[in-house]
Amino acid sequence: MFTPSGFAHIGAIRGPLVHDLIYKALKRTGSDVKFTFVINDFDPVDGLPEVLQKDFSKYLGFPLRNVPSPEKGFDSFAAYFANDFKNVLKSLGIEPQYLSSYDMYKEGKFDEAIKIALDNADKIQDIYQKVSGSKKKEKGWLPLQVICEKCGKIGTTRVHDWDGKTVAYTCEKEMVKWAKGCGYSGRISPFGGNGKLPWKVDWPAHWMVIGVTIEGAGKDHASAGGSMDIARELVSQVFKINEPYNFPYEHFLIGGKKMASSKGLGFKARDSQNLLPPEVARFLFVRTDYKQALEFNPVGTMTIPDLFDEYDRCYKAYIENSDEDLSRIFEMSQINNLFAKEKTFLPRFRDIVNYIQMPNVDIFKKYEELKGEQLTETEINIINERIKYAKIWLEKYAPSEFNLQLSEILPEKVKELSEEQKLFLKKSIDLIAENDDPEKLQLALYNLTKELKIDAKKAFSAIYISLIGKEFGPKAAWFLLQYPKKEIIKKLEEATK
Ligand SMILES: [Zn+2]
Repeated sequence: MFTPSGFAHIGAIRGPLVHDLIYKALKRTGSDVKFTFVINDFDPVDGLPEVLQKDFSKYLGFPLRNVPSPEKGFDSFAAYFANDFKNVLKSLGIEPQYLSSYDMYKEGKFDEAIKIALDNADKIQDIYQKVSGSKKKEKGWLPLQVICEKCGKIGTTRVHDWDGKTVAYTCEKEMVKWAKGCGYSGRISPFGGNGKLPWKVDWPAHWMVIGVTIEGAGKDHASAGGSMDIARELVSQVFKINEPYNFPYEHFLIGGKKMASSKGLGFKARDSQNLLPPEVARFLFVRTDYKQALEFNPVGTMTIPDLFDEYDRCYKAYIENSDEDLSRIFEMSQINNLFAKEKTFLPRFRDIVNYIQMPNVDIFKKYEELKGEQLTETEINIINERIKYAKIWLEKYAPSEFNLQLSEILPEKVKELSEEQKLFLKKSIDLIAENDDPEKLQLALYNLTKELKIDAKKAFSAIYISLIGKEFGPKAAWFLLQYPKKEIIKKLEEATK
């Protein structure tokens, strides 16, 4: 299930993905299996992303499906955010049959469940009390909210009388903090999309209506006394259906913190597309046991290069049939076509990161040499894809020491240069001016260190400190000659002052 009240956070991918794995695994065994995913578009708008607060506050309390889309081209608020999440899931190879909760209610598919729930209102309250232990029993309480006929809100109505055909309700002014009702009272049929069951009853009602046999849930729903426990009781005592097989899966964490879409912190699901190639993004979720918290902290860390390395390791296991689990993980991370089991050259992500910072390196030529034969079309595509994501990583996520671009201003670190390092720089300026061939320049620079009796490592680090503010860098001569000489010489002169 997904409630389309904003952009899904990246951790929201975990649920659908775990179910996709089960679906595909069952399908492979020849089972007749259906994978459904419910869009909770009948839920009320009970909070808004910050950018929408100004224009959409007037819709708080309305069913998500009855609120206009924030952008043109979508039927509703719900459709806009659902569509965004569906696209992300599709890009990761997750294509369930989508069901709209609003439509199912409207079509009368929940009528029976509503009747059962209203008839068993007292029992449901007993179950709430017994399982979660907190809620006090409320006289006349009914497990339903209807859409107010006067103002259109569903989040503000309290239903308090059920005569077997209609319910009485009041649109309460102060019932919830996030929306204000209009005060209207009336009677209405609870069926045919006029009303909706509250979440804890709505969930098992979906199991009954759809015929769900397997459904996992995030750990927070599965905690003792939580909505999963209540749903189980309702299944056996109220709805009288078979309990679906359920399993809790762990949280998705960023820097040790659980992501919350309402606070807009961290990454959105849609960001995954600009962070990782689809197969590697899928791999991130497939690789981690659903029973373990998934830690993902890509900013300023080696998380992404490490993830690529791990992906490549599983690829190797797949090709060589060396480790069944890793091989299977690789297989299940593929999206459209399974890799042919022929050896494909996977360029290491961190090498690509280095190469793209050296314009004089022809990456494709380099890999052809390494491979010893022509690259296949697949290999060329993979290299191109990794170049794309290496550029993104360098620009947005890499630790600062990875960016090897010429710095615009004189780095602070030049203050730390010793007199002998400065002398080396001064003398190397002439060598740079004279040499256009990187091999020759590299040799000349090396000979200069001998001539000055300066430690070669110290000498070369003076070059990197002056130009990129770091102690290390790519091979000096090649690095130096990729820029206009005038610019390089000017920067080195400044550094020696
Ligand atoms: Zn109202």
